[in-house]
Amino acid sequence: MTLAPLLDGYDHVILDLDGTVWVGGAPTPRAPEAIAAIRASGRGLAFVTNDGLRSPEEYVRKLWSIGCTAAVEEIVSVGSAIQYLLAGRTTSADVFVIGAPAVFRHVREAGQRVVNLTPRAESADVVVAVAHEEFAYAELLTATRALLAGAELISGGRDRNYPTAGGIAPGTGAVTAALEYATGVSARVVGKPDPQVFRVALDRLGPGRTLVIGDHLVADLGGATAAGLDAAVVLSGITTREQAEAATEPKPVAIGQNLGALVLSS
Ligand SMILES: [Mg+2]
Repeated sequence: MTLAPLLDGYDHVILDLDGTVWVGGAPTPRAPEAIAAIRASGRGLAFVTNDGLRSPEEYVRKLWSIGCTAAVEEIVSVGSAIQYLLAGRTTSADVFVIGAPAVFRHVREAGQRVVNLTPRAESADVVVAVAHEEFAYAELLTATRALLAGAELISGGRDRNYPTAGGIAPGTGAVTAALEYATGVSARVVGKPDPQVFRVALDRLGPGRTLVIGDHLVADLGGATAAGLDAAVVLSGITTREQAEAATEPKPVAIGQNLGALVLSS
């Protein structure tokens, strides 16, 4: 397996997961071979996702289950980006967390105090919001009161909704919009297309030129450009060829039918 000439100018590759490496439970065509070839070339690799439901360990298991090798430190989720943001602060804050168990772990690992279900919840310094499957009105209530009392709002993203096996589910953007609407507070968003999640990946990859590959024109191409990176678009997810070819600001450096076709030369 040899790499396509497209990769010649790049030292690292950042891959989106859903719609790029996999669709549902299956890898996109030749995705495992493409990832193996990038690794064999010595290039750095990171996987960046807006999905806040799973921990990095769970993403690694899913990648292995579809035949792709991966390591925990290569996974950058919105939870990782929130952890990075909070860990960079000099003081420890009281944080009210809306999110899956993985998000709670990221906040704790950033050295912050989680105050859910304590008397301090409504006076938290920070509210972290990521959509999760157990989301309840009581969380909206506590978070609203904390925000009205002066808390900062950090959100995992503005995705309106996302596909599940049972159909469309409301995304982190919907939870974030509810909190912003209730309080007038504007969220600091770390998910794509905000460049923060790419900056976390770049921090791990180190110096060098980096190519982002994703299926979403706004989240991946827009987010990569905001982080100062080139991006290529694959057509295995949400974007059609017509949409990809019409994209001008920013314009993808390449368009591929899928990850395998884009990255592999034969
Ligand atoms: Mg995607």
